[in-house]
Formats: sequence, structure tokens, C-alpha cells
Amino acid sequence: MNFELTEEQKMFQEAIGSFAEKEIAPLVDEAEKTSTFPVQLFPKMGTLGYLCVRYPVQYGGAGIGKIGDCIAVEEVAYHSVGIAAGIMVQSGIGTTAIYTRGSEDQKQKYLVPAIRGHKIAAFGLTEPNAGSDAAAIETTATRKNGKYILNGTKIFITNGSFCDFVLVAAYTDKSKGARDGVSLLIADKDTPGFNRSRLHKFCARSGEVAELTFEDCAVPEENLVGEEGKGFRYLMESLTGGRISHASRSLGLARAAYDASVTYAQERVQFGQPIAKFQVNAFKLARMAMDIEAARWLIYYAAWLYDQDKPHVKEAAMAKLFASEVAIRVTTEALQIHGGYGLMEESVVQRYFRDARLATITEGTSEIQQLVISREIGIR
Ligand SMILES: Cc1cc2nc3c(=O)[nH]c(=O)nc-3n(C[C@H](O)[C@H](O)[C@H](O)COP(=O)(O)OP(=O)(O)OC[C@H]3O[C@@H](n4cnc5c(N)ncnc54)[C@H](O)[C@@H]3O)c2cc1C
Repeated sequence: MNFELTEEQKMFQEAIGSFAEKEIAPLVDEAEKTSTFPVQLFPKMGTLGYLCVRYPVQYGGAGIGKIGDCIAVEEVAYHSVGIAAGIMVQSGIGTTAIYTRGSEDQKQKYLVPAIRGHKIAAFGLTEPNAGSDAAAIETTATRKNGKYILNGTKIFITNGSFCDFVLVAAYTDKSKGARDGVSLLIADKDTPGFNRSRLHKFCARSGEVAELTFEDCAVPEENLVGEEGKGFRYLMESLTGGRISHASRSLGLARAAYDASVTYAQERVQFGQPIAKFQVNAFKLARMAMDIEAARWLIYYAAWLYDQDKPHVKEAAMAKLFASEVAIRVTTEALQIHGGYGLMEESVVQRYFRDARLATITEGTSEIQQLVISREIGIR
């Protein structure tokens, strides 16, 4: 067993950590205040090769696998969960199926520019009547004169308000059910009938989500990803990998809340001594550190399995479930340690506390992760 990152991964961790501190941290307050994603980060990170590091060098990636991706997401999330969301979709669910199942033309047209940050990706599965129950989607894609005519509505789509393209899940044949009747199509933002409107949330405000509607939106046949009718399994593959990145985002957030708490507990003096000296607070910090460490190893193990092409469905769900709950526990304790000051708007820990709340809901709720794990351990 080897518990060390490779030299390349360590170098990348240092580089992306310092980039995030210098180039992302200064943008966060404004991005949160205006609920606007700083889209200039896409070309900036793409040019430096920091955007989609897991993809092979031949497409412009760094070839450092899912672990590399996890490192990037964690370092960005340390400063902003909202910004990490946009980056995570670009390197994960927004492009995975194009890489694994797409044609070479699709890779050149969408994946390569996405890796460079010249095109922004989104992933459109969720609908108003289909959240956890993804098979209940109602969007249809009907083949007509060399095109697929898309009709339907997608909701809560990360990057949806500014993306250049979105991977859309739609029924091409409802009679075959989700397993054989759903297909995956790439819809370009300028296609007539593709409309979008922004949604607003109380947490991770710098990460933008949108509702997308498709009204007789004609997508060229060559934008079908992989085989017609096989889209559902491509989506599930993408979502499994996405859970590992999502867990890394929770980890980055928990680490930020922990670091802020360690500093504060050593500086804040009450009853003539730093509050960290009270055993109750020292124990809180000890538990926070343990939670973070445990989450990290679940994540790295799942990412390692992913990189080795070994089964990882259970491990990805465990990492996602555990890390998201760690984010909530750690940010809740961070707020308690900061006392009244933590509740003030200018305090960063109230943002951490708010941002953590989405971790157990997005990209498969905690209940759904438990469903996945229970199935994987043989409970039927
Ligand atoms: C900020 C944000 C970003 C998002 N980004 C994207 C994106 O980019 N692309 C995309 O396609 N989607 C995206 N989503 C959608 C997200 O994946 C869904 O919100 C999530 O899967 C839950 O679906 P839902 O909100 O409809 O909740 P529901 O499915 O309606 O669930 C409501 C509650 O019921 C529980 N529940 C549901 N079914 C079961 C069951 N079988 N057993 C036990 N409990 C159950 C859930 O756990 C939850 O507690 C995003 C959502 C948000 C909020």
C-alpha cells in the first residue's frame, strides 16, 4: 500500500493551491455578493492546464487522473464552494460522457475547447418532476430530417446560465424505458428553441444554476453521444465519478472551516485564556480533524479505484455521503466555536455553514447514496 501522492500530484497540489489563493480567493466576496460566477476563470485555468487535469495530454489534459481532479476541486472549494461547482462540472459530469463515449469529432469540437476553457460545459438531467428518480424525465428527442427535436425542461443546471453546451438526457423511445430509451445529446447554446433563466439560492451563491427549456430545439444527429438508447448508463457512469469530485468539494469546505476554527480558538481569549484551552473546544477540533482525515481517505480510495478502472460505485457513494456529512458537522462546529462573531455577515464561517447545506442534496441526496450503498452490499 502507498499512502503518498505521486511527485507529480504533489507538485500539482502546490501549484493549484497557490493559484487558488492568488487568483480565486480575491474574487470570492464579489462573486458571492452578486451571485455571479467569475467566468474569466475558465480560460485562465484552461490556459494553465488546471481546469480538467484528469483527461489525457493528447486532449490538453494533464493526465493525472481522478486523484488530480479531486486535488483541484478541493483546493478551489477551500476558497469557494460555488466556484468549485462550476469547475467540477466542467471537468466531470459536463464532459465525462463525451470523453468516454463520444466520437473523435465530438471530442475535438467540445472536449478539447472545454479543457482549454474556451467552451463551458453543463449537464442536464434533473427536471421539475424528476430529481432522485432520474428515469422519470419527460424531455423527449424525436428524430426528424437528420436532427433530434428536443422538447422539455431541465432544472437546477450548474453553469446552465452561461454554458456553451449542455449534455441533455432525453427519451428517444419512451416505450423502451430508461435503460434502453434514454439518449444523451449535446445541445449548443445558440440552437433556436434553447432558452435559459437563472435561479437563485441562499448558499454557494457564486455557483450559478439555471432552468433550461427546449422548445422544438433541433440538435444535429451527429450530436448524439455514443449509441441511441444507451444514454442512461452513460449518465450513471458520469454521476458515479461526479460523486467523488463532489466529495472533494465537501472536503475543501470542511478544511477551510477547520483552519478558520483552529486560528480563532487560539486567538479568542475568554476567562483569561484562549478558548482552545477549554477541553470541550480542543475535543471539537480533534473530532473535526479526524472527520476531515477520514473523508480524505475515502475520497482518495474511490478516486484511486476510478483511475485503476476498478469497480467503485459503492466507494464513490460512501465518499460522497460521508464527506458531505463531514462538511455539515465541521461547519456547524466552526460556527459554534466562533460564537456570535461567526453569525455576522462579514464572517466567512456563516458562508461555510450555508454552503455546506447543499452537500447532502446535490448530485444525489444522502438518502440516494444510502440506497446505492445498500444495493452494493447486497441488500435488495
Ligand atoms: C445547487 C444545485 C446544483 C445542481 N446541479 C445540477 C446539474 O448540474 N445537473 C443536473 O442534472 N442536476 C443538478 N442538480 C439537481 C440535483 O442533483 C437534485 O436536486 C438532487 O438529485 C435531488 O433531486 P430533487 O431536488 O428533485 O429532490 P427529490 O428527488 O424530490 O427528493 C426530495 C427528498 O426525498 C428524498 N427521496 C427521494 N427519493 C427517495 C427514495 N427513493 N428513498 C428515500 N428518500 C428519497 C430525497 O433524498 C430528498 O430528501 C442540482 C441541484 C442543486 C440544488
